[in-house]
Amino acid sequence: ASGARVPVLVIGTGYGGAVAALRLAEAGIPVHMVEMGMAWDTPGPDGKVFCGTLQPDHRSYWLRTRTKAPLNYFIGFPIDRDIPRYTGVLDAEEFAGITVYQGRGVGGGSLVNGGMAVTPRRENFASVLPTVNAEEMYSVYYPRANAGLGVGAVDPAWFESTPWYQYARVGRKHAQRSGFPFVFVSDVYDWDYMEAEAAGTVPKSALAGEILYGNNHGKRSLQRTYLARAAATGRVAVTPLHKVTSVAPASGGGYTVLMEQLDTTGAVVATKALTADRVFFAAGSVGTSKLLVKLKATGALPRLNDEVGRGWGDNGNVMCGRANHMWDPTGTRQSTIPCAGIDNWAAGGAFAEVAPLPTGIETYASFYLSITANPHRARFTWNAAAGRVDLDWQTAWKQPSITMARSIFDKINSTEGTIYRTDLFGAYKIWGDHLTYHPLGGAVLDRATDNLGRLPGHPGLYVIDGSLIPGNTTVNPLVTITALAERNIAKLLPTDF
Ligand code: FAD
Repeated sequence: ASGARVPVLVIGTGYGGAVAALRLAEAGIPVHMVEMGMAWDTPGPDGKVFCGTLQPDHRSYWLRTRTKAPLNYFIGFPIDRDIPRYTGVLDAEEFAGITVYQGRGVGGGSLVNGGMAVTPRRENFASVLPTVNAEEMYSVYYPRANAGLGVGAVDPAWFESTPWYQYARVGRKHAQRSGFPFVFVSDVYDWDYMEAEAAGTVPKSALAGEILYGNNHGKRSLQRTYLARAAATGRVAVTPLHKVTSVAPASGGGYTVLMEQLDTTGAVVATKALTADRVFFAAGSVGTSKLLVKLKATGALPRLNDEVGRGWGDNGNVMCGRANHMWDPTGTRQSTIPCAGIDNWAAGGAFAEVAPLPTGIETYASFYLSITANPHRARFTWNAAAGRVDLDWQTAWKQPSITMARSIFDKINSTEGTIYRTDLFGAYKIWGDHLTYHPLGGAVLDRATDNLGRLPGHPGLYVIDGSLIPGNTTVNPLVTITALAERNIAKLLPTDF
């Protein structure tokens, strides 16, 4: 209720927020979570909570009147369609030089992501979080995060035999014939459930094209892991469809938190205030950065330092497709859950996940999302005239990523005698260089915050999400975000609570 006082308020319900809520609640501390997106716990008229990738409806996008599919063309034709404006689950947030895809709803990115749960190679960790003790991370916090997330791996025998991973086996063959290490990648998807889907004994999700706009079954999203355990403590309340707009010191101590209640068209139906003794910023790299930059610039949190808003990167994301020969079909049946990648990080600065293209028809295409060592870092700034936060990323900054991804695919194309697809991102466009799925940074650890995510100058304020990580994790980021949150909350509990 408006005007209430709470001991801890967590902004956002993604990985960082869910870890904070669970561990605080386990320690006996009541937690209030505020989430701008919907709860995603109620089926629509079709009996499903989420819509499929091939039939996007109002549930697909956050407040758009037209879909904005990451792969927006096929054989040169645009595939986007009109939809009713609604607080859908996937936000394609547009900045001047990049579209940043993010999950909206209770569970954050876990609602829409591929669930690829990759722990970085230890030799790369110093480049990911240079001021964090790697020994502790690899002995305690990465294992804790993997257990909490329910990470598992595809059964190798099933992988070899199922038609649903033919595309990944083709990807392996091509990687290996060019001498690249091919690695299996763990995932939070329930692999036993997927095998049951293939056997036809349960409703299909990964095998029915569900992913980008949510999985109705099979995926261990945060709703089914950390947030379920947090709710079971009886100490965690979650308020969906409320967007935090301000956090400022309260006169009697603690912080006044302002929020807007939204309806499903995105209209503000009420504004509310409450007081929190402590606040965790867990609104994701973009959400937390936008809030902190605005609050510093407008004087609400004047003592935040000048590092706020800096150090933002796209995890080097770049996409491409290759056209295979007719004797290398990738299959009309494709699981939406990727399970393998090509590791050329050390030699070429690229780790490419072999991604599905689940169109239901044979495309003879191999599709890849590469994570690359892109060195560019962008900054969020407050645009007072427009009343919004801008990001100064430039599309041309993807060029190093393209060069790094080419260290893999030029060689594969040369070995196989194949070419890039030029029809997936626009006519005659090879590279998907306009987007990222992996925003990171903006409130970097030991720069904008101290070594545990405390915001200096404002006791009781913490950052605990992907904004702590300086722009790149060398692999998909969710496990590292979770493990860092586990580390920080474990160290904060005995000292600050
Ligand atoms: P988020 O998970 O983004 O959570 C932040 C939450 O805060 C959101 O729910 C948001 O709605 C809410 N919020 C924001 N602002 C406010 C506000 N002002 N008030 C209230 N609430 C607010 N990573 C992997 O490791 N493996 C993958 O396979 C993978 N695939 C991906 C596929 C897609 C399509 C996308 C979009 C992402 C993918 N990712 C993947 C990335 C991963 O999901 C993110 O890195 C991760 O979710 C970030 O976690 P977080 O805790 O920092 O924030």
